[in-house]
Amino acid sequence: MHPAVEVKHLSYRYDDGPEVLKDVSFTIERGEWISIVGHNGSGKSTLLKLIGAIHPVTNGEVWVNGIKVIEDTFSEIHEHVGIVFQNPDNQFVGATVEDDVAFGLENYGVPYEIMHERVKEALNDVDMGEFLTHEPHHLSGGQKQRVAIAGVIALRPNIMILDEATSMLDPEGRGEILDVIRKLQREKGLTVIHITHHLEETLQSDRIFVMNKGELILCGTPEDIYMHGGTLIEIGLDLPFEMKLNRLIFNEDAFVTEMELLNKL
Ligand code: ADP
Repeated sequence: MHPAVEVKHLSYRYDDGPEVLKDVSFTIERGEWISIVGHNGSGKSTLLKLIGAIHPVTNGEVWVNGIKVIEDTFSEIHEHVGIVFQNPDNQFVGATVEDDVAFGLENYGVPYEIMHERVKEALNDVDMGEFLTHEPHHLSGGQKQRVAIAGVIALRPNIMILDEATSMLDPEGRGEILDVIRKLQREKGLTVIHITHHLEETLQSDRIFVMNKGELILCGTPEDIYMHGGTLIEIGLDLPFEMKLNRLIFNEDAFVTEMELLNKL
């Protein structure tokens, strides 16, 4: 079986601007949950726009489930990849939660009965089944973003990209989204690519990709990245609290006496 995503020697520049992606290569297996972290401007969104067939690939190759991403395959790729963006308010199009989740299916001409079932199923999957007739704008941030996720999964993609989809939410809302992602990954085998600024959120993912200035500079499990990844500190990303503690206690590089440990905390 083909991997979910294969990126080979991918470089990209906008018009005549500088290279914003530089020879990026990686593979994502089906069902993996990948977190992508990095400073603003490091190329994360550009990368996902190339994977999600929003921008054309100009240098290098991107493959999604064995399909090469080129302009001729864009609509096919859109059936495989769903994207959830940062601000749920910008994504609402329906007057009720049900209308909203149904919107994409309507565009594909799915018959009403099937559409209704799929909308209910998608809302149940994100634990929003009771909100069918509610107005989206009256929901909490976490609930809105769960409705946006339902709109994406109703179209049955096998890869879901979250482009800073938690960044406008409070900790409770972020927790709701992470619970939903975990459930979708485990129960539906969805491949998840999650761009986030909140490094705590990466702890549950299978692997973390660290981007810096257009390059993929690190890639590994959360343990690999945080226990042995002094690089993260060097590029100025803040480690999650649990990992700062672990690093101080267990990492040989960061070995300190008990007194030093107390001082550092
Ligand atoms: P990130 O998601 O990590 O913040 P982006 O992929 O959005 O990074 O941006 C990478 C670089 O590409 C930045 O220097 C940004 O200014 C530039 N960029 C992003 N979108 C465009 C665009 N539409 N036109 C020109 N430059 C862009």
